[in-house]
Amino acid sequence: MKDIGIILGIRPDVIRASKILNLLSNTSDISFDFIWSGQHYSENMKDVFFEQLNVPKPDVEFEIEKGNDAQIVSSVIKNTYNHLEKNKYKAVVFLGDTNTVMGSIAVAQHNIPIVHIEGCMRSYDWRMPEEKYRTTIDHLSDRIYAYLDSYKQQGLNEGISDKVIKVTGNPIVDIINENNNLFQNAENYLSEEIVKIISNESFLLATVHRRENILDKNSLNQIVNLINQTETQVIFPMGYTTQSKIEEYNLKLNSNVHVCDPIGYLEFMHLLDRSNYVFSDSGTVVEEACILGTPSIQLRFSTERPEVYDVKSSVKFDPSIEHNEYQSFLNKAQSLMDTKWKQPFGDGNASSKIVEDLIHLSQNDAFKKHKPGDYPFDISNSFKE
Ligand code: UDP
Repeated sequence: MKDIGIILGIRPDVIRASKILNLLSNTSDISFDFIWSGQHYSENMKDVFFEQLNVPKPDVEFEIEKGNDAQIVSSVIKNTYNHLEKNKYKAVVFLGDTNTVMGSIAVAQHNIPIVHIEGCMRSYDWRMPEEKYRTTIDHLSDRIYAYLDSYKQQGLNEGISDKVIKVTGNPIVDIINENNNLFQNAENYLSEEIVKIISNESFLLATVHRRENILDKNSLNQIVNLINQTETQVIFPMGYTTQSKIEEYNLKLNSNVHVCDPIGYLEFMHLLDRSNYVFSDSGTVVEEACILGTPSIQLRFSTERPEVYDVKSSVKFDPSIEHNEYQSFLNKAQSLMDTKWKQPFGDGNASSKIVEDLIHLSQNDAFKKHKPGDYPFDISNSFKE
C-alpha cells in the first residue's frame, strides 16, 4: 500500500506540482499514487504539460462524468470514495480551489487525513465558487501548505489551528527558476504565424477563462473592448469555452488580436517573458508575470493574490462594471514596463519544503485516523465541563 495519494485535475495543477511530483518520485522515503481526477482531459490542457515538464504520468485516472460543475464534483467525490475503499492511504493531498478539491469530501467520509497545498488563500469574493471550495477544503484539512505568512494569518483568523498551517513559499517560483532555460528555447514549439509576429514587433499576450467573466456577456464585452483598444499585436491563446462564448455573444476582436487554441507551457512562458504586458484573469499567469518582470492587467474584481498590487506589477481592470474609457489601463500597464519590482512569492524552495514535511509526517505516524479530542481548530474555549 502506498503512503499517500495525490489528486490533481487541471492544467495549472500539473505545472505548479511538477517539482513536487518529481521529488516524490525520486525518493524512497515515501511512496505515492498520483491520481488524475479527469477535470481537464484534452491533449493541450493536460498531456502536453506532463511531457514538457517531465512529470510522471498518473498511476490512476478517474473516468468522471463531464457536464456542469455539480456533475463533475459529484463524480469526483464518487470516484475518490470508491478508490479509497481499496486504497487506505495515510493521507490524501489536493492542490488549489477547483472542482477537483471537492473530492476531499470523500476523503473526509473515509476519515483519512487531508492535505491542502495552496491553503488559506482568500479573495473575500463570495460570488466565486473557488472561494467557497478553498474555504471548505481548508476547514477539512489536517495539514495546510500556505504560500505566504499573510495567507497563514487568513487561516488563523478563521480559527484554523497554528499547528495545521505550514508556510512554504509558492512552488510556481521553483518551476520558473528550474525551467527558465527551456522557456528561452521554446520558440520552436510556436506556430509559424506567432513566430513571425513576435520576431517583427513588440506584442501583448492575453488569457481569459474565469466563469464570472465569460458566462456574463457584459463582462466579456468589457474585456473585448479593452483589448480592442490597443493597436499593438496581441496573441490570445483562448480556452474552448471562451471561444464559444465570444461566438455566442457575437463579440468581435480586432484583426491585430490573434486568437489560437491553448498552447503548451514552455511556449506560453516564452511569450509571457517577451510580451510588453499581459491581459489575464488567471491566478497563475499574474503570479508568473510578476516573477518574470512582465506587467499585467488583471481582469478581475477581486484577487487572492493582492501581492501583485502591493509590488505594483499589476493594474486592476474590473470587467463587471461598465467603463467609458480604456486607454488609461493600457497606459498604466505600459508604464510599468519601465519599473522593477521584487517578486514576493518565495525563494524557490517551496516544493522541497512540502515534500520534506510530507515525508516527516508520514514517517512519524502523524497522519492518523482521527480520535476523540483531535480537532484542527483552536478549541481552547470549547468542551467546558
Ligand atoms: N498556460 C499555458 N498555456 C496557455 C495558457 C496558460 O500553459 O495557453 C499556463 C500558464 O502559464 C499558467 C497556467 O496555464 O501556468 C494557468 O492556467 P489557468 O489560467 O487555466 O488557471 P488558473 O491559474 O487561473 O487557475
